[in-house]
Amino acid sequence: MVVFEIVLKKPMDEIEVVSFDAEGTLVTPDFSYGIWYEAIPELYARREGIEFERAREIVSEEYQKVGSQRLEWYDIGYWFSHFDLGAPDSVIERFKRKVRYYPEVHDVLLSLNGRYKLIVASGTPMELLPCLLHGIESYFANIFSSISHYGQLKEPDFYFKVCRSLEIQPNQVVHIGDNWQFDFLNARQAGICAFHLDRKREAGYQHSLTDLAQLKVNLISYGG
Ligand SMILES: [Mg+2]
Repeated sequence: MVVFEIVLKKPMDEIEVVSFDAEGTLVTPDFSYGIWYEAIPELYARREGIEFERAREIVSEEYQKVGSQRLEWYDIGYWFSHFDLGAPDSVIERFKRKVRYYPEVHDVLLSLNGRYKLIVASGTPMELLPCLLHGIESYFANIFSSISHYGQLKEPDFYFKVCRSLEIQPNQVVHIGDNWQFDFLNARQAGICAFHLDRKREAGYQHSLTDLAQLKVNLISYGG
């Protein structure tokens, strides 16, 4: 409770929208890992006639050359064309089975639904988001992909655009996500009440939450 007051400094009755990042927040990394580090290396190995492990090294090096600060990092279309692998559709379909939600997700969404408008604000492209959110998409009034809808990373400007689209002020929005820069710092810079999610307590930031149930408790306690 104290953490909440320190981080937000806002009464919860102002909050109308609760925004979630997707990967690492609602959905485990299993699906994405499968696409980037299993499917793509597998196809690349086949195309080049090399061992899978060698292919994985090569594609990982290519990913690192681009890095997570550039749009291409998140763009499955870019990588399929970069490695000349054809269309990604069948791979996406095949890896759907790897989509997993964190255990508290259904309960939290169920509790908050009706009290707040729930949205997704993700850096994942729309080619992948419907798969990732399959089974929980009905909870969300809107799904925003920074890359597909606005051609940008989750910069402060992205959050402004989301608020403008919802016709709401940033201080009426809570956002939670697992990326310190894209979900916490940038959302806060836009004036949003942001929470950092650190499920494994790896980042070591004092005010990070460790699961979505903590967000639910705080919102409901303070919002009534
Ligand atoms: Mg994330």
